[in-house]
This record gives sequence, structure tokens and C-alpha cells, in this order.
Amino acid sequence: MTSPLFAAIRDEILASGPIGLDRYMGLCLSHPVHGYYRTRDPLGARGDFVTAPEISQMFGELIGLWCADLWDRAGRPEVAWVELGPGRGTLAADASRAMAKAGLVPAVHFVETSPVLRAAQAERVPGATWHDGVDTLPTDVALLVVANEFFDALPIRQLVRRGEGWHERLVACQDTLFLPIAGKAVPVDLLPEPLRDAPAGSVLEISPASVAVMQALGRRIAAQGGALVAIDYGYEGPALGETLQAVRGHGFANPFETPGEVDLSAHVDFTTLAAAAQAADAVAWGPVTQRDLLGQLGIDGRATALARHAPERTEAILADRARLMGDMGMLFKALAVTHHDWPTPAAFGA
Ligand code: SAH
Repeated sequence: MTSPLFAAIRDEILASGPIGLDRYMGLCLSHPVHGYYRTRDPLGARGDFVTAPEISQMFGELIGLWCADLWDRAGRPEVAWVELGPGRGTLAADASRAMAKAGLVPAVHFVETSPVLRAAQAERVPGATWHDGVDTLPTDVALLVVANEFFDALPIRQLVRRGEGWHERLVACQDTLFLPIAGKAVPVDLLPEPLRDAPAGSVLEISPASVAVMQALGRRIAAQGGALVAIDYGYEGPALGETLQAVRGHGFANPFETPGEVDLSAHVDFTTLAAAAQAADAVAWGPVTQRDLLGQLGIDGRATALARHAPERTEAILADRARLMGDMGMLFKALAVTHHDWPTPAAFGA
């Protein structure tokens, strides 16, 4: 028995030959009918993974404070608040509360393709405006953009060193199995110069889709004013290595089995994202670790205040704080982007 999504991908491969990993990942996650994000809410204890805003309200609140502080020091211009891939809308709700306390009550815009998650977001943030992509975001006000665990969900390509050249990894279909194969050679200028002579077997990941989103937002911020913060698991590239991963029920799975039933993601190359923003004439900051970001934004004070308010929850609040600041706080990093005339964002200064 194969699933409808398996059949759709197989038919495409049978019709036109093996497909790029980016196409495969895009179909698995965002196929208009059967894609992973189109068919379910993957978050939470009963889902496939848990994200920082779902761990604790402190996360969204501190991100909201980061936005409000920057907006205040930028002279309180008119802004729209934008979230990319808002999940259940938890971060947006927590951030909105914190921003409102600081005097910032912006229009909220969500970039979200999942109908299931749009419904969850509408419950938590009534009055938001939804977009399928970044192109339709407002053009007449400054933008404050937040993206938590968004860029890791965008499709990647993998280039593999074989003999003298680099080849694109493609996905082929054999009976009821998908399997990665080496496709035709790619031009070497797709690769960062220091990595071109890497040994046979090396894998390099690139994400043109992520670069396109960051460039578009960098151009908007440069033209309209504003700032962006992207938090994700990732590295400062260029670097070799395979990070494509499949997750189901909080454990690892095979990315080529049960398409559409497992979450696919890849680590984010922050260096390349920063360069994309700079190429669009915006200023890039960091990355800094999530631990440094939340520490500097005052997570300890916030945890103490919450515990004072609800003493019976003290242990849980401290456990949530430890989770955000422990291994996760080192693995996850934050990149900021600002307009040239905007001030240094909190936690990203020297
Ligand atoms: N930011 C949330 C959810 C992270 S999961 C949190 O931290 O809890 C990834 C989110 O990105 C989901 O909301 C998913 O539906 C959305 N998403 C994935 N691919 C997308 C795409 N190509 N365009 C817009 N949204 C996308």
C-alpha cells in the first residue's frame, strides 16, 4: 500500500526522471493536498516535535520585547509585525501581549501556507492577515519580522563530490521505494571556493529557497525600514555535511520513507542568510546563541516574576527556562537584520 503523496511523487519521477532533493522536500512538506504541513498540526507532545514558543510563554514575550525595544529606539515609526511560519500562533500571541505593554500594537501579518495551522493561528491572534509568501506583505510601513524554526523547513539541494566533480543528489523511485542517487555534474561555481576541492563523498547543502526569502525581506527592510530576527538550529557556513533529517513522534525517521508523514528539515546556514540580507543592502547581526539572546533579554528576571505570580508553578517555570537555555540554547542561534539607520538590536551589540 502506498499513500496518495507517494503515488504523486512517483508519477512525477516516472514522467520526468529523478527529481532534485529540493523538489522532493517541497512536495513532502507542502504538496497542495497531501503535504506534511497541509494536513496536520505537527507541534506539541502528541505531535512530532516541540518548539521554543510551545515550551514557554517566556520565549515569545522576550522576542516581543526585543521588537518593541528596537522600534522604540528607532523613533516609534509605523510598523507591521510579521511572522514567517507561525505554527500555532503561540509566539505571536505572547509577543503581542509583551509589545502592547511597551506601547506597540502593530497590525499582524502571517506568512503561512498550512490551512490547519492558519486555523490555529486565527484562534490565538484574531485579526491577523495571512499571506502565502513574502511578496504580498505591506509596502508602506516598516516591517518587524520574526521567524522561529521557519528557514529549516525550506527545501535544500545537496551536492555530492564524486571523483573529479560535484553532482546533484536526486531522488529516484524503485518499486515502492524512493532512494537518493547521484545526478549529473553541476557547475563548480555553485560551490563556495574553499570547499571545491573537498574529498570524494563530501556533501554540501544549499538552500536557494531560503536565500530568495531572505533577499526579498532584506530588500523590503532596506527600502521600508524595520528589522528581522530568525531563530533556528544551524551553523556558520560554508561547511560540509549532511543535515537533512526526518522526525516523527519526537524520534528520527528515514527521509525517504512515508513521505508526508514525517517532518523534513535541514540545518540553516546563517552565514549565507546574512550575506543574502547584506546583498540586499540591509545590515546583518550575529548569529548569537539562543542562550545569549534570551539571557540578555532578561529570561532570568522573567522566570522569577512568573514564579512569584504562580508559586505552585515555580519548578515547571525553572525547568522550561533550563530547557530553552541548555543544549537547545547552544544548538539554536539567532540572526538579526536591520535597516542601515536603525539602532543596534538588543543582544546583538559588541
Ligand atoms: N514558528 C512555529 C512553527 C515552526 S514549524 C514555532 O516555532 O512553533 C514551521 C512553520 O512554517 C509551520 O507553521 C509551517 O506551516 C510553516 N511553513 C513551512 N513551510 C512553509 C512555506 N514554504 N511557506 C510558509 N510557511 C511555511
